[in-house]
This record gives sequence, C-alpha cells and structure tokens, in this order.
Amino acid sequence: MFLPYQTEGFVLKKEDQAEADQLFTIFSKDFGKIKILGKAIRKITSKLRAGMELFYLSQIEFIQGKTYKILTEAMVIDKFKEMRENLERLNIAFKISEDLDNLLKGEEQDEKIWQLLLEVFEKLNNLQLIYHYFFWNFISILGYKPELYFCASCQKKLKPEKLYFSVKEGGLICKNCFNKFDTGIEININAIKILRLIIKKDWKILEHIKINDEDEKCLEIISQNAILSIRN
Ligand SMILES: [Zn+2]
Repeated sequence: MFLPYQTEGFVLKKEDQAEADQLFTIFSKDFGKIKILGKAIRKITSKLRAGMELFYLSQIEFIQGKTYKILTEAMVIDKFKEMRENLERLNIAFKISEDLDNLLKGEEQDEKIWQLLLEVFEKLNNLQLIYHYFFWNFISILGYKPELYFCASCQKKLKPEKLYFSVKEGGLICKNCFNKFDTGIEININAIKILRLIIKKDWKILEHIKINDEDEKCLEIISQNAILSIRN
C-alpha cells in the first residue's frame, strides 16, 4: 500500500487534464517544487477543490502514483484574501509563480526559498516593491547575488556617481568599466539604494519607501535582463 506524504504548499499553477482532472504545480515546504494530480477535482462534488485554488497556501497530502503524485487531501491554511481582491497584487503573484516555474529545475526541498515565499506572500501589501524583493532575494539564493558595493569588474569601491548594472559581470560596474567593455545598463542612485536594502532584507525601511516610476522601470529592466541571462 502507498503511504501518504504530508506537507504545506503554495498552489502556483493549475492545468486542466482529461476526465475533470487537474495538474497542480506546488512549491512545498518539504519537497520543493512538485507536480500533483488532482483526480476528478473539477467535479463539483470533489471535496479537494476548496483547498486548491491558485495561490492558496494549503496543507496537502498525496501518494506517489505510477506517473504522478496524486492528491488525497487539501486544506486551506491561508487564502491571501486581500491579495486576491487586487489585480495588481495578483499580477505579482503570477510573476512570482512563473519565476519559480521557469528557474527551478528539479524537485528539491529548499528552506530558504520556502521562507522567502511565506514572507513575500504575507507582505504583498506593499505593491511596488514586493516583486523586486522576491526576485533579487530569490536569485541570490540560486547563487546570483548581485555585487552592489564594489565594481563587479575592476573591484574598486563604488562611489555615489553614475553607475551601471551589468548582468554579465554580476552586479554594479563603474563608469570606467562601462566605457571599456560597453556592457551594462545605467541605473540611478535611488534604485541602487533600494536594491541594497532589498538584499539586506531591510523591510522596516523598505516599507516606507515611495518608489517612483523611473526607479521602478530601472529595477524592471535589470530584473528582466537577469532572468534572460540565468535561463540561458
Ligand atoms: Zn570598474
């Protein structure tokens, strides 16, 4: 007989399958990212349905079937109601789940990513910064922590002047290196300060920061570049 496994997990993705089944992508506390099949879960009579909405944090139980892990129990821990009622917040949750799906390869337990996810979902009240907070700490865990205090190319201590972010070099670079190698994106001082606070996980300061459109755009561009470079 199959012994059931139990864990907590975030429902990151649902895909409809034949016969009212659904395949769930879950980031779980004990097994990392896993796929679990919910048998006949789209039927109204399914008692599992209520615990498996997108972006729920749920207590789940499953057995290891021949092809799939099969869901046997699901109970909601947190519905993140406020996040759910706001399109912008929901959009951030979608981006987070895409990043986890794209950048995590195998099934592997990871306490740091789990803690980061818990933290970020709880903090989804601060709309502007939360995605960047997630993203930069997530890729730091994956081994791509950006260098923000010394030039990532020539190692000189950075001064508060015009600086550039080079995904290729792995962080900020000085003007000299930018001119020499012609790699990098100009980044303004304010965006750098925000990035440093994010990496320091200084939420006490971050939650009071008003981020302007220019900073937001800056962070958006370098995170997009980082995603492309890590995926390749
Ligand atoms: Zn340099």
